[in-house]
This record gives sequence, structure tokens and C-alpha cells, in this order.
Amino acid sequence: MRGKLRISPRIAALRAFMWATTQARDATPGNRAMTQLVRQSLVTYGAPLCETVDDCPEPRGSEVLVAVDRCGVCHSDLHMQDGYFRLGGDKRLDITQGRALPFTLGHEIAGTVVAVGPEAAAQARPGDKVAVYPWIGCGACAACRLGEENNCTAPRHLGVYVDGGYASHVLVPHPRYLIDYAPLAPAFAAALMCSGLTAYAALRRLAGHAARGPALLIGVGGVGSMGLALAHALFGQAPLVADIDAGKRQAALAAGAAAAFDPADPGARKAVLAATGGLSAVCDFVGSDASLGFATGVLARGAKVVVTGLIGGSFTTAVAMFPIKAMTIEGMLTGTLAEARELIALARAGKVTPIPIRERPMRDAQAALEDLRAGKVVGRVVLTA
Ligand SMILES: [Zn+2]
Ligand SMILES: [Zn+2]
Repeated sequence: MRGKLRISPRIAALRAFMWATTQARDATPGNRAMTQLVRQSLVTYGAPLCETVDDCPEPRGSEVLVAVDRCGVCHSDLHMQDGYFRLGGDKRLDITQGRALPFTLGHEIAGTVVAVGPEAAAQARPGDKVAVYPWIGCGACAACRLGEENNCTAPRHLGVYVDGGYASHVLVPHPRYLIDYAPLAPAFAAALMCSGLTAYAALRRLAGHAARGPALLIGVGGVGSMGLALAHALFGQAPLVADIDAGKRQAALAAGAAAAFDPADPGARKAVLAATGGLSAVCDFVGSDASLGFATGVLARGAKVVVTGLIGGSFTTAVAMFPIKAMTIEGMLTGTLAEARELIALARAGKVTPIPIRERPMRDAQAALEDLRAGKVVGRVVLTA
């Protein structure tokens, strides 16, 4: 027997309420201050985001309420939505703990200050246009005391542990996390806070090794294309790139890469070694068994690989290769607040070529995530208020 799809009176009432609040918001497009918090919420892991409406929080103490102008869509948001990272084989790292649902993803935020708590009044004013450093720590652990809030043991990272930027507003705990970005475009400033910062912090860790010859960047998607833009500024020479996607290789060559290789081509490893004699600085923006295998297969002695991609998989190598090759493999996630300020300063000085950015309305957050998952995005998608 086939039944009719029935909507309970409660859900119908909720839909009517959400429709009414959406209409009220759309009727006053310029008025985003302090009334409603409209979020593209993660309600259930593994399910599409859906719009929810709450009262806007009021900033207390040192807090600052920022109206979101732009929020970038990052590959890590897909893992957050899934609720796990793949660790190789059937193994998964569950990341559903420590987060109340509904939750707001989004950590690449640029916005406008709309209200400040009493202790923040001296450092932030309504109307300030700011990029928001999202990798906020507890302020008390050993990492935080060293200025590495991104490596905090009790993190409050926006869009990861605390509500982020797929919303009309975001609450920032202190004005020191706000960075002036004029005259940069707001979408570019937003993208600098994760993909840009990750690429910048990763390449900084390769600076000494990149002095020995060209660097190789593996994976030139969102973060990797930022790396390509930054490599010229940081290393003073064009990097090589490797990507399995022909379109991304082509885009990288057009953006100034010295050469592009397809790591899925069985002859690619020999071609890199023949062209370079072995590389000293490699950045793996993919982070899979295949990408790290390729990275470690093209090294000179004394080389370093920085891994910052999170695609997953497991990697094995002969332990003896560490001493024989004098090889370093270093992992990192994002960068510090000081590095974020350095990066914005570099970009404001015109030393970072903006990556291709496509802007989409905030209500398209789920569609943007699906495009990213399907590998359809070149550069970055940034949601707009
Ligand atoms: Zn990110
Ligand atoms: Zn901490």
C-alpha cells in the first residue's frame, strides 16, 4: 500500500514560522544588526545543512559581534559535515564530540563589526571591516602561551568547535582576533584565514629547504593555489606543481608554475627526478597515501616534506629511508594569529596574487559543499551575506 507523505502540524507550523522570518529578513536587507541570527546549520551529521533562525547573541565582556559579509567554503567543512575523517582502509576518526547541534560551520570569515562588549570598546568599533582569525585557543595551555592557538589542547576554533560563519553573524571572543584588510576584496580576505594561512604557514616551514632549489606543490585546489600564489613571494622562484586533474595543472601553469606533473602517470616520478635531480622542499596539500608516496619518491638527500592535506589514507615507508635520505616529514594545520597578520600584511602590500573566487549567496551553502565534494570547484567558493 502506498501512503501519502504527511506533514505533521508541528513541522507545518515550524515551516510557516521559518517562511515568515525569512520574509521579514528579506524585507529589510540593510538591517542585519542585532535582531536575528540566520544560520545554515548542521542539524544532523551526514545530512544537508538547513536554515535555522535564532535571536542574535549580545556581546558580553570582551566579545565582538560581527555581521558576516563573506565566508569561504573549505574542504574541511565536508569532513565536519560527515562527522569523521578517513584514516585509511575502513578506519575513521570520529569528530562528532564536543559540539552541540545545530552547529554553524564556516571558518573563512570577513565581516563588519556591529556590536562590542564593554571590555572590547577600545579595540573595535561598529562599522570596522575585519577578517576574523578563527583558530582561537584557550589562552592558558602550553601551545597558546607560545602563541600557537591553532595547536591549542582545548580549542575554541570558529566553525569547528564554536559556531562559525555560515550565518548572518558570528560572535568573536576578543577583538585581537580581528584584522583590518582594506584595500583587499572581502572574499579574498576571508579565504586568507584558512586556505591562505595554511598555505603560508606550510611554505614558511619550507623556506630554508626551498633555498636549495624549486619547491614542489602537490595538489593545486583551494589551498594549493594559494600556495602557488605565495611561493613566488616567499621563495623568489616559481614552484613545480603536481595534480591528477588536467584542468588544475593547466590553471597552475597559467598562474606561473614552472612545470606541472600528473602524479598518476607512472613515469611522473622519473620525470621529476630527471628534471630536478631530486627535490629539497615539497608541500603535500592533498594528504593521501598516494600524494605522500609521490612526495617521498622525488626527494634529494636532506629534504623536507610538509603535509597539510586531510584527504586521508595510510602511508608506509621503509624506516631506514629517514636516516639514509636524512628526510623530514612534518605535519601542520593552519597557522598562528601572528602568521595571519603577516599574511594579511603581505597581501595588503600587493605581494599575493588573488586566487580565482566564485561568490554565491549564503543560502547556497549546501549546494556549494556538494560542488566541492564533486571536485567541481577551481579556486575558492565564498558565500556572501
Ligand atoms: Zn579551512
Ligand atoms: Zn590553549
